[in-house]
Amino acid sequence: MNKKYDLIAIGGGSGGIATVNKASQWGAKCALVEASTLGGTCVNVGCVPKKITWLASEQALLLKEASAFGFPPAATTMNWQSFVSHRQAYIKKLHQAYEKKLLSNQVTLIQGLARFCGPHQLQVGNDIIEAPHIVISTGGKPTLPPLPGAHLAIDSDGFFALQSLPKRVAVLGAGYIAVELAGMLNALGCDTTLAFRHEKVLRKFDVLLSDRLIQAYTQQGIVLKAHHVPKRLDKMPDNSLSITFENDQILTGFDCVIFAVGRHPNSEQLNLISAGLVPEKNGTIGVDAFQNTRVSGIYAIGDVTGRKELTPVAIKAGRLLAARLFGNQPQSKLNYDNIPSVVFSHPPIGTVGLTEQEAKDRYGDDLRIYQTQFTPMSQSFFAHPQKTSMKLITVASTDKVIGCHLIGDGADEMLQGFALAITMGATKADFDSVVAIHPTSAEELVTLT
Ligand code: FAD
Ligand code: NDP
Repeated sequence: MNKKYDLIAIGGGSGGIATVNKASQWGAKCALVEASTLGGTCVNVGCVPKKITWLASEQALLLKEASAFGFPPAATTMNWQSFVSHRQAYIKKLHQAYEKKLLSNQVTLIQGLARFCGPHQLQVGNDIIEAPHIVISTGGKPTLPPLPGAHLAIDSDGFFALQSLPKRVAVLGAGYIAVELAGMLNALGCDTTLAFRHEKVLRKFDVLLSDRLIQAYTQQGIVLKAHHVPKRLDKMPDNSLSITFENDQILTGFDCVIFAVGRHPNSEQLNLISAGLVPEKNGTIGVDAFQNTRVSGIYAIGDVTGRKELTPVAIKAGRLLAARLFGNQPQSKLNYDNIPSVVFSHPPIGTVGLTEQEAKDRYGDDLRIYQTQFTPMSQSFFAHPQKTSMKLITVASTDKVIGCHLIGDGADEMLQGFALAITMGATKADFDSVVAIHPTSAEELVTLT
């Protein structure tokens, strides 16, 4: 006999776990199907190991500059293997915590690959399970471009599997992952090249952020190659890798090449046709504002929908969906406006709301832009201080703050509170009314003129 549940989530990553835990707290009988490791991208090959590596690279930068505060010169080379085993131990603890939470919420965890065999039925191994509500939360995976020799490179999953730090590395790409990996590898002592297709990295971010990051990375010694579209990779007789670009430039001598050119959704193995669902051309699963797909009782959340691929977005969309389905909150849905995000570059970036270009497109000249750049106290003793830059974008006629863009030490921790204020509709006058906290970098944001 088929096993029946109120709700099944396919994919035990950030979104799926959050959905079943919340739904079970509203009394629903839930199952979670996971084909691989509990925790999904974020826990295993995303945010968590990335942030731990970023912390290590920040540590390396601080150690290099420690003599500025009177400390004797410290060792700055790390034991990569010992670091990786600590990182894995941390991740293992998270797996255990997730399993415990699912158990305490009486969620059935099913290990295996789920495929639809009807709109409300799934096959997992030899079992058929069914539910009136099925949430697709299958996330995505890194894209390797179809170039000759692309198999010689690794992607972000491969980065987290590295057994040793490369000596000379090329990162190909221009988005979050490319700039994060390049910054971390360089700070950890790798000779790092970052090659990208256009004039800038982070092209979709506010121009202040992409310009400042390019300056910072140049200052830090990362070799930046703009207008470099990769064409092929080759292994040389000495086992090093060479990259040929479409502009006929060839870069050679790498012991590691990393593609970070985007991700694509995990939808091809779901047998969506049996559920009456057709994915979009790029494989994402289309949803309305309530995460409903075109088939009644089937929903999609998180990266597989291709909307704001961030862990808290997958989690919140899942929890709000659970509240709608089982918590008697028929209007519960995620507001996708003003989603803050941080890029863990060196220095970090924090951004929320409209970029200057988006604001101009929407409000024309009805804007007031406030901007500052300064050397934070944390950097001012260092031989090569990194500046902090900040921008607030307001609508001139209403004084409402519609964009906030930060790059500099502490931007990662600074943003959350300001994102709250902006989500609540704060005006520049509200920012000005707050008493500054001194001496901090954050105070600059409430004293901008
Ligand atoms: P996932 O976490 O990818 O989970 C999907 C799960 O579904 C996987 O475990 C997979 O095995 C499983 N699955 C797939 N198909 C099936 C099937 N047919 N049957 C059963 N199981 C299946 N976001 C941030 O907010 N902050 C960060 O700092 C950050 N850093 C990142 C760094 C990197 C290197 C990467 C790659 C991503 C990062 N992200 C970050 C993005 C974040 O990891 C994702 O947005 C988030 O994990 C998406 O969650 P999800 O639940 O949609 O999918
Ligand atoms: P992104 O979409 O951020 O960036 C990928 C970039 O690679 C593109 O924007 C494009 O930039 C470039 N690119 C695309 N195709 C090619 C190609 N064939 N050759 C060379 N360059 C190419 O993807 P990521 O993989 O970096 O990250 C995926 C998502 O994961 C992010 O969008 C983000 O939502 C999430 N993430 C979040 C993090 C965080 O919150 N800190 C960290 C890491 C990931 P261009 O067009 O300018 O060339």
